[in-house]
Amino acid sequence: MQVPPFTLSKQIKSLGKDLDEAVLRILHSGNFIGGSEVKSFEESFAKLIDVPFVVGCNSGTDALILALRALDIGPGDEVITSSFSFFATAEAISSVGSVPVFVDVDPINFLLNIELLEKAITPATKAIIPVHLFGCPVNMDKLMEFSRKHNLKVVEDCAQACGALWRDNSVGSFGDVGCFSFFPTKNLGAAGDAGAVSTRDKLIAQKVRELSVHGMPRRYLHSSLGYNSRLDSIQASVLNIKIPYLSNWVKQRFLIAKNYKDLLNDSQGIISLPSYQEGSKSKHGWNQFVIRVPNSKKNKALLKKFLNDNFPQEDLTEDLSSRDLLKKALKNQNIDTIIYYPIPIHLQPAYKKLGYSKGSLPITERLCNEVLSLPMFPEMTIEEQLYVVESIKKAFQLIA
Ligand SMILES: *Cc1c(COP(=O)(O)O)cnc(C)c1O
Repeated sequence: MQVPPFTLSKQIKSLGKDLDEAVLRILHSGNFIGGSEVKSFEESFAKLIDVPFVVGCNSGTDALILALRALDIGPGDEVITSSFSFFATAEAISSVGSVPVFVDVDPINFLLNIELLEKAITPATKAIIPVHLFGCPVNMDKLMEFSRKHNLKVVEDCAQACGALWRDNSVGSFGDVGCFSFFPTKNLGAAGDAGAVSTRDKLIAQKVRELSVHGMPRRYLHSSLGYNSRLDSIQASVLNIKIPYLSNWVKQRFLIAKNYKDLLNDSQGIISLPSYQEGSKSKHGWNQFVIRVPNSKKNKALLKKFLNDNFPQEDLTEDLSSRDLLKKALKNQNIDTIIYYPIPIHLQPAYKKLGYSKGSLPITERLCNEVLSLPMFPEMTIEEQLYVVESIKKAFQLIA
């Protein structure tokens, strides 16, 4: 059996006719920018996440940039965020001329450690970007309480968490602004790049819209320097087809996560599983199912033995971590896994100038050496899941 980390093939097959029709309709209409598809998407998405205003844009990265700009965050300002995220989170902060300040994450849920925020505050701190990483909602009660106390703006990075709830409310409905990505591998994916900004504040929504069209409140009047970052009609039409399926897809992701947890429960101690407790009013979006493989001597020895015994062609002379060895062991059994993320943002060459070094954020750095995302997509079959689980157990010689 072959298991991909993610695939759209089954989704495209089942929605194919509707998608073809929608895309062709736009293609033949010649109305590619703006129009009713975009308007209708913004309205449906606003309804879905229950916020009054949604503005579509080019990508999740642009959503973050537009949000920061609309909140007047720029040169001289500091924005606190997590280094255990996709690079775009910090890149957006730098793009508006501000400085990202990284705070370490909680080792259990991988999210910004709220207890550590206070120490990161300086007179220049203007905002916090909590990242609902892998679909797991940040504790927005605590985060909003903290940010109100310190008079900081909050921009939620919801790129991986479409469909996730914190206490019955969608992510992206708590902060001043929420930023969504519809990159094809996210929970709600377009047929290319797309994103959106959500807010409860009419003026912020207006500002975001202006900035997304060259700072232009009305035609050929430019009140600020903006961007060309619109959501195009074809992408909107694809999203309009997909929105009604989102809740079902997230439910499927939840069931897959539950199966993984049940089936791998007896392997706890060798690997660790996401510990998120469902059942409260909060809901994980399960964009990724991320396990941790502690880099212990015992794990290394077990995985090396498995690889040596079964795949002697593998060259193991390089000093690989247990996580890298497990990835190799799965790859040899035709299972592709992905590492989100192998290098923390604060240690990226692009951020050398910020002055962080190895050891600056110990939990984040340890996670980058231990995490592995198992295959996860709503259409994944139980057979595929059983095969992944069996292959992991074989690699650790828990089963023959
Ligand atoms: C995907 C992603 C983004 C950027 O979204 P794009 O649509 O790819 O620009 C930002 N933050 C996080 C956490 C992401 O996963």
